Amino acid sequence: MVINVRKGNADDGGFILEGDIHVTQRELEALATIAEGYDNENSANKLGISYTTLRNHTYNIMKKLGAKNRTQALVKAVENGMIVISLKRGKVANPSNECYVCKYCGRAFTPDEAIEIHEEPFIVNHVLLEPPDWEKCPYSDCNAHAPDAYTWGKVKYYHPEYPEIPEKGVKYSTDELLEAEYQAYIDAKREMEDR
Ligand SMILES: [Zn+2]
Repeated sequence: MVINVRKGNADDGGFILEGDIHVTQRELEALATIAEGYDNENSANKLGISYTTLRNHTYNIMKKLGAKNRTQALVKAVENGMIVISLKRGKVANPSNECYVCKYCGRAFTPDEAIEIHEEPFIVNHVLLEPPDWEKCPYSDCNAHAPDAYTWGKVKYYHPEYPEIPEKGVKYSTDELLEAEYQAYIDAKREMEDR
């Protein structure tokens, strides 16, 4: 989970709320850092401030948002769009721009061709969740997650007869890799049961 402070309409990057209440960026950062799971001491260290300053920041933001505790302050900050909680983002690993083969449709693509999908934020239990951007298989008739794809090297391991560079739109076999993955899953499950 990633917690980000948004840039606001105030000069310091914080927010001016109704009633001329100024929530400063530092106050939001203090709240976000604690929400990320840092304890007070580590939060203060991370922000380069003293423990007392951190405590003041969190106390002030609670008061300004009319919150009884820090959790409530976080929820209010999220509801007001000052803090955004998002899940980790998934991208195709791209060390050498190697080609990939879609696990589901068997067609090849380069990481650059994967289509970035952006979904609108939505609210669950008063918390604004920003779905992570994700990458889709570039072929329009396939909605597979691009990061699930196999590298061309792995496919070629089972099919040395395949060319050095895959052709676009051609369906290649990923059966052996799917089979190997399934076998690994069965083995792991068996090992768990044996314990
Ligand atoms: Zn596909």
